[in-house]
Amino acid sequence: MKIAILPGDGIGPEIVAEAMRVLGALDLKFETETALVGGAAYDAHGHPLPESTLKLARDADAILFGAVGDWKYDKLERPLRPEQAILGLRKQLGLFANFRPALCYPQLTHASSLKPELVAGLDILIIRELTGDIYFGQPRGRRTAVDGHFPGAEEAYDTMRYSRPEIERIAHVAFQAARKRSKKVTSVDKANVLETFQFWKDVVTEVHAQYPDVELQHMYVDNAAMQLVKAPKAFDVVFTGNMFGDILSDEAAMLTGSIGMLPSASLDKDNKGLYEPSHGSAPDIAGKGVANPLATILSVAMMLRYTLNQNAAADRIESAVQSVLSAGLRTADIWSAGTTQVGTRAMGDAVVAALAGTTKTITTKT
Ligand code: NAD
Repeated sequence: MKIAILPGDGIGPEIVAEAMRVLGALDLKFETETALVGGAAYDAHGHPLPESTLKLARDADAILFGAVGDWKYDKLERPLRPEQAILGLRKQLGLFANFRPALCYPQLTHASSLKPELVAGLDILIIRELTGDIYFGQPRGRRTAVDGHFPGAEEAYDTMRYSRPEIERIAHVAFQAARKRSKKVTSVDKANVLETFQFWKDVVTEVHAQYPDVELQHMYVDNAAMQLVKAPKAFDVVFTGNMFGDILSDEAAMLTGSIGMLPSASLDKDNKGLYEPSHGSAPDIAGKGVANPLATILSVAMMLRYTLNQNAAADRIESAVQSVLSAGLRTADIWSAGTTQVGTRAMGDAVVAALAGTTKTITTKT
């Protein structure tokens, strides 16, 4: 099995290094190859997603991605900005289904900005469609921009668009995911205002006819944003389009205490996937050795489960993370009084040590 490693920018290389140490501690055989992506690739090759990086990602069974972006690239024309690398990978590799679990670890209930009783035991799954919607609408890229901005322009626009097959395939993914959980799906739209989302709602309703055992509710995005902070545990699987999913999944992430804890998977139709933390490149803390590597480490667990079919190894990583949290170790973003603050490397060390402690009791395939 071959894993493409794309650390990216900012804290990306720091957190990916820890995730790779965890991967290396599993006694599984993988081939890994690393390539530049994002701003780092732009600096070296003049493009955020060079052909060689795209080829590596295409040829690999799975991709471990750190994060891309830095404010210093804001003046570049949009196709050359670091964030285009992730959009390009999603589109080129057909990674249309983004899974973002939002799980509130019992040890971190107090790190949430909501009352503990609202988030204790929270376990929801946000599924975001990734390759359609306004982020890929026409006439993307045809506008005349100066340094990525529009001085003196009278208007700017992006178009929102979804095709029937795009909605159908993400709806199937959501209903099938719900079958493995509590069989309850919320489809989020804005059908009261946007034609695209009336169409979304109609198609989702049609697909639902094939899943009579799954309960479906439709909810407008503004209400969903409100309900997520009012009664988040009322949700189980939430699925929506690219832009609403972008926003709601970050909101859901914060319910759990820190975006530094949340992994994500972006899958194609055959479950090949790109795995990355839900957060960005955090330029404000890059190079300081304080970033939380757990979201990236947990992304490796998702990779083992969804693409590499190594469920036992995925379980081992998740229990190692739990035991490190139970031991009271915290990076700055999840620190609270009475716990021990550690940096990125020490957190990685602790997970590797916890894995070693569980080696004897769990059998893994080599
Ligand atoms: P961000 O997620 O990078 O950071 C938001 C806040 O969360 C910051 O205060 C940061 O310090 C903190 N944070 C994020 N990850 C953390 C971690 N692992 N440990 C501790 N704290 C953490 O979002 P932003 O500041 O809006 O964006 C920064 C850059 O990242 C931008 O260039 C943006 O475009 C890019 N970005 C990239 C991706 C991606 O690569 N998939 C996703 C989102 C944003």
